[in-house]
Amino acid sequence: MAKQTLVLNSAYLPLTTVSSLRAFVLIVLGKAEAVHYYADEPIRAVEREFLRPSVIRISKYIDMNYGKLKLTKPNILKRDNFTCQYCGSKDRGSLTIDHIVPRSKGGTDTWSNVVAACWNCNNKKGSRTPEQAGMKSVKATRPSYLYALGINNPPEDWKPYTFTK
Ligand SMILES: [Zn+2]
Repeated sequence: MAKQTLVLNSAYLPLTTVSSLRAFVLIVLGKAEAVHYYADEPIRAVEREFLRPSVIRISKYIDMNYGKLKLTKPNILKRDNFTCQYCGSKDRGSLTIDHIVPRSKGGTDTWSNVVAACWNCNNKKGSRTPEQAGMKSVKATRPSYLYALGINNPPEDWKPYTFTK
C-alpha cells in the first residue's frame, strides 16, 4: 500500500489522510506545509529525490466536529478492538456492552463508563463495580480523533495528534 499522509487543519487537528504523493503535490502547490517526513522511501520526481511527507498541515481551518461520534454498541466495540476488556476474549459473538459502574449504581451512559465485555464477564460482574466483583479494573476513554477517522494503528509521527477531546 502506498504510504499515507495525515492531513491536519490549521489548528493541528487531523482532518483526513491522503496518499503521500498527493500530500507532496499539495506542498508543491503551496496549499500545505510539511510537519513531519518519513525517514525512508523518498519521492523520486524529475530526477530528484524529495522527502516523503508523513504529516502535513493545510492553511485552512476546517472544523470536523469530532464530538458527534455517537455512543453506540458498534462504536464501543470498535474502540475496544472487539475485545472483552476484562478477560481479553475476542469472541465477537459473545461481546456485550458493560457499564463499568452499573446504571443501577448511578453509572452513566458515557464513553468513560462503557466497555466491551464478553457475556461471561458481564454475567459474572452483574450489577457490581469491577472491584466489588473481584475483577480487574478497566479504563475507558472517548475515542481519539484518529479513531474517528478510522485510523487504528497510526505511525509514530501521527501519535501527537491522537489526543482526545
Ligand atoms: Zn470476558
